[in-house]
Amino acid sequence: MLERAIAAMNSTGIHLARQSSLYVTEPLDAPGQAWFLNAVVEAETSLLPVQLLHAVLQIERQLGRRRITPHGPRTIDLDILFYGSSVIRSRELEVPHPRLTERRFVLVPLAQIAPEFRHPTLCLTVTQLLAATVDRSEVRLWHAAAQT
Ligand code: AMP
Repeated sequence: MLERAIAAMNSTGIHLARQSSLYVTEPLDAPGQAWFLNAVVEAETSLLPVQLLHAVLQIERQLGRRRITPHGPRTIDLDILFYGSSVIRSRELEVPHPRLTERRFVLVPLAQIAPEFRHPTLCLTVTQLLAATVDRSEVRLWHAAAQT
């Protein structure tokens, strides 16, 4: 599903620049459930932020995303973590993603591809955010990326 999502992004004007490895990650809010697979990509696009959101939501729908239980198993979940150093707080879209600092399953793959990237409002690098997070959930390397 992750590979299909990346292929769909590339054909929707979201051009992949870097891709993390794949990680197997412990569910945070639903203990006992199967672990997730997570990855982070850096991409270039001329889509504006809300256009980008609509494009990724469309890809989720194409890949059969159904929202059944919150935090539960899902085919795919695509989140926008950053949009350059823009700060967006609208009803539909919040960037930087408000929960990324509490999620090792985001910070570990992000630190692999963008360790020095600085959060535009917290003014800490991704490496510093990872060192500071209170999340202790497990994130295990599953499949190394071909290129990082
Ligand atoms: P979920 O799939 O449960 O992560 O929620 C998706 C919804 O979150 C979307 O319909 C968006 O309106 C909203 N949203 C707000 N900020 C973001 C973001 N940075 N990335 C993706 N979805 C976002």
